[in-house]
Amino acid sequence: MDRLGLLLLLVLTASLVLVLLSPKPAPEAVVVIDAGHGGHDPGAVVAGIQEKDINLAIALLVQKKAPAYGLKVILTRTTDVYVDLVERVRLAEALGAALYVSIHANYHRDPKVCGVETWVDTNADPESLRLAQALQSAVVAATGAQDRGVRRQTLYLRHTALPAALVEVGYLSCPAERAKLQDPMYQERIAEGIISGILAYQSR
Ligand SMILES: [Zn+2]
Repeated sequence: MDRLGLLLLLVLTASLVLVLLSPKPAPEAVVVIDAGHGGHDPGAVVAGIQEKDINLAIALLVQKKAPAYGLKVILTRTTDVYVDLVERVRLAEALGAALYVSIHANYHRDPKVCGVETWVDTNADPESLRLAQALQSAVVAATGAQDRGVRRQTLYLRHTALPAALVEVGYLSCPAERAKLQDPMYQERIAEGIISGILAYQSR
């Protein structure tokens, strides 16, 4: 074998070793997005506006926009049906999802209460809390809504070990926010906020 042949053999061997040693790309993890309520359960109803419809519109927008950001989204429901709450998180686990985000719109007796909140279960682990904080910051940044922070409450999210959070994207009982929540442009901003929050959470 001449020197050129030997050099070629060395280069080929080195390339093969590099290919074999390079890390395999991780399989694209699925993110499960839940549109809260549905079917016989409308959630909050104010001035004829049903929370379940707002939640679904935003969830569908998240799914539509996600591929452009390299995110694969599966929804717990894509139509106006009720899905059992524990089944929603079981579905996420069965799919091997990376995380679970539930979308809701809020209600308060006082119409002056407006803004975005993100909820975790009272027993939430640090990962769920980190997800909630990322979502809260991103949705507030995308919408300009009042930041009402991350809160804890007993939620069905305790039935999963996945990082899980529930975003209350605004108050239907707040007249100005109710108008915005019905606006497809504002719904898009919320959807983009949710995607940004997930990406921020995953980037660490
Ligand atoms: Zn709700």
